[in-house]
Amino acid sequence: MLLTRKSGTLPGGTPSSPFVHSLRRGLSAALPTMDRRSFLRRSGLGVGVGLAAGQLSLVRKADAASATAVGTGKVEVRRTVCTHCSVGCAVDAVVENGVWVRQNPVFDSPINMGGLCAKGASLREHGHGEYRLRYPMKLVNGKYQRISWDVALNEITAKMMELRKASGPDSVYFVGSSKHSNEQAYLLRKFVSFWGSNNCDHQARICHSTTVAGVANTWGYGAMTNSYNDMQNSKVALYIGSNAAEAHPVSMVHMLHAKETGCKMIVVDPRFTRTAAKADEYVRIRSGSDIPFLFGLLYHVFNNGWEDKKYIHDRVYGMDAVKAEVMAKWTPDKVEEACGVKEAQMLKVATMLHENSPGTIVWCMGQTQHTTGNAMVRASCILQLALGNVGKSGGGTNIFRGHDNVQGATDVGPNPDSLPGYYGIVEGAWKHFAKAWGVDFEWIKKQFASPAMMSKPGITVSRWIDGVLEKNDLIDQDSNLRGIFYWGHAPNSQTRGLEMKRAMDKLDLLVVVDPYPSATAAMAAMPGKPEDLNPNRAVYLLPAATQFETTGSATASNRSLQWREKVIEPLWDSRSDHMIMYQFAEKLGFGKELVKNYKMQKVKGLDEPVPEEILREINRSVWTIGYTGQSPERLKAHMRNMNVFDVKTLKAKGGKDKETGYDFTGDYFGLPWPCYGTAELKHPGSPNLYDTSKHVMDGGGNFRANFGVEREGVSLLAEDGSCSLGADITTGYPEFDHILLKKLGWWNDLTDAEKAAAEGKNWKTDMSGGIQRVVMKVHGCHPFGNAKARAVVWNFPDQIPQHREPLYGTRPDLAAKYPAAADRKAFWRLPTLFKSLQDKNLADKLYEKFPLIMTSGRLVEYEGGGEETRSNPWLAELQQEMFVEINPKVAADRGVVNGGRVWVTTPTGGRLNVQALVTERVGPDTVFLPFHFSGRWQGADLLAYYPAGAHPIVRGEAVNTGTTYGYDAVTMMQETKTTICNIEKA
Ligand code: SF4
Repeated sequence: MLLTRKSGTLPGGTPSSPFVHSLRRGLSAALPTMDRRSFLRRSGLGVGVGLAAGQLSLVRKADAASATAVGTGKVEVRRTVCTHCSVGCAVDAVVENGVWVRQNPVFDSPINMGGLCAKGASLREHGHGEYRLRYPMKLVNGKYQRISWDVALNEITAKMMELRKASGPDSVYFVGSSKHSNEQAYLLRKFVSFWGSNNCDHQARICHSTTVAGVANTWGYGAMTNSYNDMQNSKVALYIGSNAAEAHPVSMVHMLHAKETGCKMIVVDPRFTRTAAKADEYVRIRSGSDIPFLFGLLYHVFNNGWEDKKYIHDRVYGMDAVKAEVMAKWTPDKVEEACGVKEAQMLKVATMLHENSPGTIVWCMGQTQHTTGNAMVRASCILQLALGNVGKSGGGTNIFRGHDNVQGATDVGPNPDSLPGYYGIVEGAWKHFAKAWGVDFEWIKKQFASPAMMSKPGITVSRWIDGVLEKNDLIDQDSNLRGIFYWGHAPNSQTRGLEMKRAMDKLDLLVVVDPYPSATAAMAAMPGKPEDLNPNRAVYLLPAATQFETTGSATASNRSLQWREKVIEPLWDSRSDHMIMYQFAEKLGFGKELVKNYKMQKVKGLDEPVPEEILREINRSVWTIGYTGQSPERLKAHMRNMNVFDVKTLKAKGGKDKETGYDFTGDYFGLPWPCYGTAELKHPGSPNLYDTSKHVMDGGGNFRANFGVEREGVSLLAEDGSCSLGADITTGYPEFDHILLKKLGWWNDLTDAEKAAAEGKNWKTDMSGGIQRVVMKVHGCHPFGNAKARAVVWNFPDQIPQHREPLYGTRPDLAAKYPAAADRKAFWRLPTLFKSLQDKNLADKLYEKFPLIMTSGRLVEYEGGGEETRSNPWLAELQQEMFVEINPKVAADRGVVNGGRVWVTTPTGGRLNVQALVTERVGPDTVFLPFHFSGRWQGADLLAYYPAGAHPIVRGEAVNTGTTYGYDAVTMMQETKTTICNIEKA
């Protein structure tokens, strides 16, 4: 879908919209004497542009020899991975004399098989982007001025120390990045720990935190269970809240292959998306009504006896209670009332799920970003458990993550409630990492404001603005937040933009570390209310290198790790994130501690920790989720030999690495975690979680024993006969520790050295890996035990998922029946409103003033907050305009025409000036806006507030300038998918 006819003759052609003018201006500013044809020739981007237009089309495979046509210099091909989404498409970058001249998709990659979407096809321009932030800058009298790195580091760290002295370490907040490599994300969590705080977070909070919490609490690990590739083995796929054709385009290659062999595809969405266009069955539900829909399907499953009774008996706890609730509460009439789907279609979909097995379910932010997100994802899990679909090839919950390394950054990065590997922030976990980091636990403890703050989960990124704006006596830490680091994060991807602007103005310190200035730069420079502005505020922009200017690993959504080679040296004055972390640590007095275990290298004459060394530290410490077997050597060998891995299974049937002699036989591509034990154990990785049909040393498994062994007299362990293939214990069992090993007589299977390390330890804290080795290799069991999945999660506010209407809704009748949860105090250090706000909104009759449901989502051309992709000329040309999709009835009632300007107004006072796209894609109760835009603010262009020459080419209103308050009751996920608005003709 394109809103306007695109210019093919830039610059100089006849523009088809005002935005072509702005595009032309952007291009000509960067390339004053080059026409588009010259630019294509000189940039080597002809291949990319062709791909962008065709999106999933393939191109001729080019090799280094053909690349020599570009010039006569030294040509090298460096293998990297697209940084724009979690699919993990591999790209070969052709570099001539240190200059990245062209790129080719990797045909051998089992993930993308030579396919790239528009974003992946234009990676080179991201690396070489003309609109990048080139130098450190400081905001002086409303304008950004260039400063040196030394000045920037000195001034920022001096300010940090001043804030620390006056208000404690928790007064500074670190927003990390899902664009960081695993090594950088891990190092940032270590950095913040040494600073003495848990006040850190990253994008996963606002994309899949509800998934991580909901799924982990159901069966063990908070991740996608299967893989994009494994969807080729599905017989039915239910997409709910996922527009994969735009958000994860190359994943559709696997789905379309599955369709060719008979897989049925069902798409459930309030909007008829590009993904829906490929569906065998499209179901339109009311935004936010996922639980009535999912439990409505379960009603038909139970009503017809279609549930997998043996599977439920052997492997699921609490399904009886769910069944009783579903049969009483989600009868077809109630389902239709709540989600708008008639009984006949519900039965049809349930029948498709029953008749086609195995079946998978796919969800993304359409399901996660709600005040009830944790419950929605659990309802999806419960449906799959009832059908016996989890732990099977072709089944599972295929939960597509967003950013390229959001999975890895969640696994080992800056989370406010856990250390790397989800170890928690209790004393035992801190001691485990103190040992891994080679520092004294007592020293780390002293860095914190108090021992209590060391084990108190920090504020989430979704609420940092309240950490600034909330009354101090309502906050569960001493000081309000006074300093913020935006380290690779887009502010416009967060809700409540108007309040965020106020919070930014009140800060003492705001630091952006990013390859692009990001919308933060413009928002910070834009004048706000004079009474909000802190006269002592200091704002800095620091140029970070992209992932193409360093090395490191990234974890794709399917849990496979891939290693990126360095394509080019850091451009201009940019520095790698891990170098910047080290330089800050040096100034703050803990540089030596931060890099104690690492060799250092020189990059452009400056010291930088070697990424491989950081990965080795991860390998030595993160036993919980099996990040221990993926040594740099194994990952690099996989990247060099992608051809040996099968596309449908990801498994290598054989093959050896020429360089090292490494034998791939049995490995799964990218050693998807858990890859337990040391690298020497040669665990192959786990392609499909909880799969009992395989031996644990072939990636098999079962559900995790993470919730005790018994509840109210009922065993939580798996039943007799339910275990992974070949396990010595053929019934359920708890997780392993030194005591259980001794009781079973397995202790003597450890070597003497392993015994010394494993004494007093469990499978997560034994740093020799001996316990994992003996349990898996000698006895075929799973280190984390063998238990039932939980359909009832007794430690969550709603033990069985409950439908609750959004805080801002258009249906007061349903809000009366399905009210919001009770308000909470000191929840992630902040008071959080639910019912009281919903009641107030109903009393104020906001649904009359704002009668339309406002929802948001992704476009294929852009990613995340969008600044880097909207700064890419080839992507900018494809999508030049922020828009709102409006149903023809809504448009006609308001006198709005297709292509006309409208104001979208919301209860926050937000007013967005955007273009109208009149379409039947949305129903008359709903409007849709993409969330990648920024750079315009309630009708005004913010161009003047970006650093000169470092603005995005395409600027548009950020939908989140208008979004409202609302957070998930478990994780603080923000509500972006269901709020309310009105439309006026502009
Ligand atoms: Fe592949 Fe995603 Fe990059 Fe597109 S954005 S090329 S689907 S990794």
